[in-house]
Amino acid sequence: MRVIVLGAGVTGITTAYYLTKDGHEVTVIDRKPGAGLETSFANGGIVCRLTASPWASPNVPKMLLKYIFRDDAPYTFRLRPDFRQMMWAIQFLKNCRQSKFEQSKLTALELAEYSFLELEKLRSSEDIEYDQRAEGMIELYKDERSLELANKSAKTLPDKKYHPQMLSIQETIDIEPALTNKDSQYKGALFYSGEETGDAYKFTSLLAERTQQLGAKFCYGENVDRIIINNFHASGIATNKDQYAADAIVVSLGSFSSGLLRQCGIKLPIFPLKGYSITIPIEGQNTAPTHGVHDISRRVVFSRLGNRLRCAGTAELTGFDLSINKKRIDLLTEDAQRVFPDCTSSGSPEPWAGLRPMTPDCLPIIGESRIKNLYLNTGHGSTGWTWSCGSARAISDIINGNFPDINISGLDPERFN
Ligand SMILES: Cc1cc2nc3c(=O)[nH]c(=O)nc-3n(C[C@H](O)[C@H](O)[C@H](O)COP(=O)(O)OP(=O)(O)OC[C@H]3O[C@@H](n4cnc5c(N)ncnc54)[C@H](O)[C@@H]3O)c2cc1C
Repeated sequence: MRVIVLGAGVTGITTAYYLTKDGHEVTVIDRKPGAGLETSFANGGIVCRLTASPWASPNVPKMLLKYIFRDDAPYTFRLRPDFRQMMWAIQFLKNCRQSKFEQSKLTALELAEYSFLELEKLRSSEDIEYDQRAEGMIELYKDERSLELANKSAKTLPDKKYHPQMLSIQETIDIEPALTNKDSQYKGALFYSGEETGDAYKFTSLLAERTQQLGAKFCYGENVDRIIINNFHASGIATNKDQYAADAIVVSLGSFSSGLLRQCGIKLPIFPLKGYSITIPIEGQNTAPTHGVHDISRRVVFSRLGNRLRCAGTAELTGFDLSINKKRIDLLTEDAQRVFPDCTSSGSPEPWAGLRPMTPDCLPIIGESRIKNLYLNTGHGSTGWTWSCGSARAISDIINGNFPDINISGLDPERFN
């Protein structure tokens, strides 16, 4: 089949890879000059195999109220007079109910585990070096009560592989000496030994090269303007430069998926949730961390990517604006200096902002749309790096006419209607 994949982020590229391996004639189209240059470029780097969790959780409404009007808020909703954004925010808050959160969390974890196994398979067949580390992740807590509650909550999951190890602050430092800090405010941590970290951009761009070697065609620098539909069948796409015919089309345009699909009468509640990162050079610093680290109170993650330390966080519902708010970057820099004072003071941080393509239940949308031959693999929100291989394997199976190896009924495009 001739398959067109729209979008060359980590979601589109993994999709193109599996489809090409499955024998399809694949064309990838992206407006950027290469792969992985938007949201997949400088994310937190955590492959959350054991900690994938929807952001719509019972403590979020309280947090939004607590930080309202504060510049240092981990999450900020700046609602504009936009009906669709308003509806999205209401749906998001509805998904914060305990019962809904627990259900979405199980779906998130199942997809994360499946995705991790697919990533492992991909690594064993392709030679892709992306500063990967498999040393686990440390979740830091500033007070004992929150630590104990989080430990108790993690242990309610029936499968023991999701149960973390609870550590005192000294035990945490024994595992990760880079956390040694006489002014540390942390009381302890949860340790998830099965987590990994890695550079999503390196992975995406190298996998794109490999997919091209396998025979896929890449059209960079082309903006997708329209999906061509006849009698409820998608038959091709029009870009600012050309038209392309196809037997199947996969939409993986991140936060821009819903705009294009609206033209075809498909309403998807995907909104951009802006986040920031800084990348700090740590060459020659032997006090840099090797584990993934998550400061729960600040909602900030750290990952070691070769000779760099990535620090990422914050969520702003502010539309499609990608400008960099200096205050946010200063806060991330302060976070990095507070947690890792020894290795972050000399290098100058590289700032970045990206738009997480977020659905109200914080789960991706995977499946065929109401329009025949038009498939969706999008809306991966805060966990797209983690879920990329599993989502891509699943949509490729669907296009091949097979049932995916994972139950994706909770990810169906129709669930919001
Ligand atoms: C601060 C931050 C930290 C994060 N940390 C983590 C983490 O630690 N772990 C994790 O698992 N996930 C993390 N994520 C989430 C993850 O980065 C995203 O879910 C993922 O990158 C989404 O990939 P995507 O391919 O769907 O979208 P994108 O990477 O945005 O790709 C979409 C592509 O579509 C193209 N495009 C859009 N519209 C058009 C058009 N009209 N025509 C042509 N091309 C178009 C764009 O150029 C882009 O290349 C984080 C995100 C952010 C912002």
